[in-house]
Amino acid sequence: MMKVRGFAVCMMSLLAGLLFTGAGAFADDPIQVLFLSKSSGFEHSVIHREKGELGHAEKIMLELGAKNNMKVVVTKDAGMINADQLKTFDVVMFYTTGDLTKPSKDNGTPMSEDAVAELYDWVKGGGAFCGMHTAADTFHDNEAYRKLSGGVFKTHGKQEVAKLTVAKEHPITAHLGDSITLMDEWYIFRDVTDTYTPLLMIETKGMEQDLYNSIDPYPITWIEEVGKGRIFNTALGHREDVWTNPDFQKLLVNGIQWAAKKLD
Ligand SMILES: [Zn+2]
Repeated sequence: MMKVRGFAVCMMSLLAGLLFTGAGAFADDPIQVLFLSKSSGFEHSVIHREKGELGHAEKIMLELGAKNNMKVVVTKDAGMINADQLKTFDVVMFYTTGDLTKPSKDNGTPMSEDAVAELYDWVKGGGAFCGMHTAADTFHDNEAYRKLSGGVFKTHGKQEVAKLTVAKEHPITAHLGDSITLMDEWYIFRDVTDTYTPLLMIETKGMEQDLYNSIDPYPITWIEEVGKGRIFNTALGHREDVWTNPDFQKLLVNGIQWAAKKLD
């Protein structure tokens, strides 16, 4: 009897281990992440490759991947954004600028004219989009893209310290308590969609520059569910030392895991 019970327990744990967590993914399968950093517009220093060496943020994404069961592919090849290749990823991250159908000085391969529509359809069908810092400074006149980025880059001031308050209790920001204070470059947006859920708000009142001080607090990090898919956007990530900040790294990993439906 003991033997039979032992066998049953063994079979149950085996079955539990085989339980599906989503479309085609097993519970412990790594999250497949594509990190695109092609700059058709301004190229930020954190994703600049020098003499073939990966950019600062690219290296950090590979490190975070290794520590957090994520298989990260870093690329400047926007041609990878197409319906066929998207099927092999769980999450697509953009740290991009400008019109990605155009060539760029970083030798990044352009995407096709249909790529944004294919990306949006893939997200609606269960994929995940994560927009980092410059993502809103990409495709200034593309409605499908704006639905992913949540708004369009308008302007920014000089870098300064700002306090970000947690707008909503959520697993992505649970490690931050009530707020986080950081030095970074703060984007201001236009044509913001009214469909997303803000997670972090920038406390504009009391900031040094009138550009910020004169306007109401606004979202700096937000999420949205679209169809079967998820979107995580954060305007953080201009500075090198933001990318090495453990709270930022945790926010990023949480955001990716939530978007991939592995954190709820
Ligand atoms: Zn920047």
